[in-house]
Amino acid sequence: MKNPFHVMLIPTLGCPARCRYCWSSEPGSPIMDIEVVGEVVEWLRQFPDKRVTFTFHGGEPLLAGAEFYRQALPLLSGGLRGMKPEFAIQTNLWLMTPEIAGIFAEYRVPIGTSIDGPMEINDMQRGEGYFEKTMQGCAIAKAHGLRVRFICTFTAQSARSREEVYNFFNSRGYTLKLHPALPSLRNRSPEPYALSPFEYGELLVYLLDQSLEHPNGIEIMNISDLVKCVLVRHGTVCTFADCMGTTFAVGPDGDIYPCYRFVGMPEWVMGSVYDHPTRDDLARSDAWKRMDQFKAFVDSHCKECRHIRYCRGGCPYNAMVPTGGKINGVDPHCIAYRRIFDEITGRLNREMQEGFGLEAPAPGPRRPGKPGIMSLVQRMVSR
Ligand code: SF4
Ligand code: SF4
Repeated sequence: MKNPFHVMLIPTLGCPARCRYCWSSEPGSPIMDIEVVGEVVEWLRQFPDKRVTFTFHGGEPLLAGAEFYRQALPLLSGGLRGMKPEFAIQTNLWLMTPEIAGIFAEYRVPIGTSIDGPMEINDMQRGEGYFEKTMQGCAIAKAHGLRVRFICTFTAQSARSREEVYNFFNSRGYTLKLHPALPSLRNRSPEPYALSPFEYGELLVYLLDQSLEHPNGIEIMNISDLVKCVLVRHGTVCTFADCMGTTFAVGPDGDIYPCYRFVGMPEWVMGSVYDHPTRDDLARSDAWKRMDQFKAFVDSHCKECRHIRYCRGGCPYNAMVPTGGKINGVDPHCIAYRRIFDEITGRLNREMQEGFGLEAPAPGPRRPGKPGIMSLVQRMVSR
């Protein structure tokens, strides 16, 4: 059961919100027919020894409506029982209703939603009224016992208010996942908002410090993931692992892509669920070959980097944005990744040396009396 599949189902690229930095919505996008879900089941039946997680993503996946989920969840869950399907959804929650929440509760669908901090900051980036609508949907989900986690997109603007944003999540006890506003292959709208690699690195170190200095505070998932990557010495989230071959996305019409970020771009189609392609069929597509080229590029470009095993050059999509789809660089956030991985490994080394009473601690700034990375690991284990 090694390398489980992660299949992202994109019921539509449409979305009722108009976030200023968004690259992934497409007005007028069709809604996935339930027949496509049936074909997903037929396609995946050829991989009975894999486990699978389905994430409904968008656009805004709740636009598909209650009836879609009432049929899709039992189809996937029953049709692929041997793969032990698990589910998740990434939604802004505006269209959450008690009916949909009831269906999700039956299949224990955890929810990831998006809020960028207090209402003023959030609505400035995501549009007036967004915060209220998401919080109303969140209340319905929670009333049905659903777990809701928050993705906070930091833009170049909101990163300047990082303390205010962190305090907002911490004071409400909301588990936080940070997402940097990113440039896109699809259009240029996010660029004025995009967080620079340097700013992103600084933000990650700030959040690492917050995690350490507030032992009873919220979990910051990126920090837990980064520490886990360093400890187990391989990527535990897609950005830091070779994602090709284990992650797929299915668009509204049944086309298969390497990941949700490519959905809607014809040159990235690898096949269709209607043809039930084998792994070898998909591997013959240009999209797969380009993603494989990225792996080879990383092996040579990053070979001297001490973080290569658990960084793997970052996200191939990010790497291709500056070149319009060509592979001649790694993820531009390399600067941020190197900064935070240096910080975590440096602090861990110092803690180890001090713990073993060695005389010459590793170089780097000392943080006398401050909680260390190992205290964070203990918290992660006990969660
Ligand atoms: S392309 Fe990037 S976002 Fe998509 S699965 Fe790969 S690492 Fe993750
Ligand atoms: S930190 Fe940069 S150089 Fe090192 S593996 Fe990651 S992308 Fe490559």
